[in-house]
Amino acid sequence: MNLAMKPVVLILAAGLAACATPAMPPRASTPGSQTCASSEVRVDAAFEGGAMAHCQAAGPREFDITIRPEDQPINPSPWYAVRLTPQTAGPVQINLLYGDARHRYRPKTGPDGDNWTYVDDADVRVSDDRSVAHIRLDLDAAPVFLTGQEILTASDYATWMMPYRTRNDLSVSTVGYSLENRPIEMITHHPESGRGSVVLIGRQHPPETTGAVAMQAFVEVVLGSSALAQEFRSTYGVVILPLLNPDGVQHGYWRHNRGSTDLNRDWGPFAQPETRAARDAIDTLDQSASTRPVLFLDFHSTNRDVFYTQPAGEDGTPYRFTGLWLERAGARLPGYEIERAERHQSDLPTAKNYMFGRFMIPAITYELGDDTDRALIRQTAAVFAEEMMAILLDYGLAAAH
Ligand SMILES: [Zn+2]
Repeated sequence: MNLAMKPVVLILAAGLAACATPAMPPRASTPGSQTCASSEVRVDAAFEGGAMAHCQAAGPREFDITIRPEDQPINPSPWYAVRLTPQTAGPVQINLLYGDARHRYRPKTGPDGDNWTYVDDADVRVSDDRSVAHIRLDLDAAPVFLTGQEILTASDYATWMMPYRTRNDLSVSTVGYSLENRPIEMITHHPESGRGSVVLIGRQHPPETTGAVAMQAFVEVVLGSSALAQEFRSTYGVVILPLLNPDGVQHGYWRHNRGSTDLNRDWGPFAQPETRAARDAIDTLDQSASTRPVLFLDFHSTNRDVFYTQPAGEDGTPYRFTGLWLERAGARLPGYEIERAERHQSDLPTAKNYMFGRFMIPAITYELGDDTDRALIRQTAAVFAEEMMAILLDYGLAAAH
């Protein structure tokens, strides 16, 4: 593997670099995670987001790593994240053993948990039934992370939110706690007499980091310093719950929270503290016309970029926000195909169905592909953010309830 030959496609920390944030603290360790070692290499998952069910040395520089979900049945999102610590430079082979699951996430490596590079396809061999992935790495004598997607945990969100905590026009509050007592945080902005709030949520599903990349880029534009963003924020509120499943993210879960529940199927039962916290925070917005939700976006990842929306003309706005939004963003993104998947309201207790049913506002699931280029995600998210703001400023007042 020749790292120098390959473009570095994941530059997740790029947005942070400009903020002059202090050096990152080391990643917190998670006691009880699996560890194994040969005479030459140590393998562990004792860090935020780290996950492997079992690990066994098959040779001095070869390891069998078993990948298992937190519980079953579950969606096929087999997350893995391990750290390899070789004593000497040289090749290491990792065999990911998925059992009944199938290899999904293209392996990535990085030295520090913040910068990532795809492992060269030539160094990844997946069995015909996709239940085993053999990964060959050429390592220096230094620790390296090997993961399914970039690691984006509570520490990373904390760093990302740091500039927002000190801004006079924003507040960051804790609206509840996860089952393991991790805070559910909310960033809010409310103008003096607003026309309602845009509500954004993220990370109901732990491995869906491309959705998180989109959300962060989107938020950076909406909370940014452009004239459009400033005008928008003088007219509309912005409410962001970026990390709804902090326990699942911490433990490297595939889908669920600590209560074995898909949070995006709990917007109805509200049996979990994470969804209750979000619901209650949103309910508070409904107490005043100036903060009432006017648009809801829920960021996720899947096998492609796609927007799950209400059917055309039925998003609760007389001016058809959703169609206008995707059309105007599309006009600015030549060559980028925008897929709209129209879905009628159903009994499925998703956040989208709940928010549309409760408020009759556009409620959209914003999905990014697992492999969508991260720079493209950021670029398109910025355009979607700008067009959202422009449309709500142009048309939204006509739709005030
Ligand atoms: Zn999802």
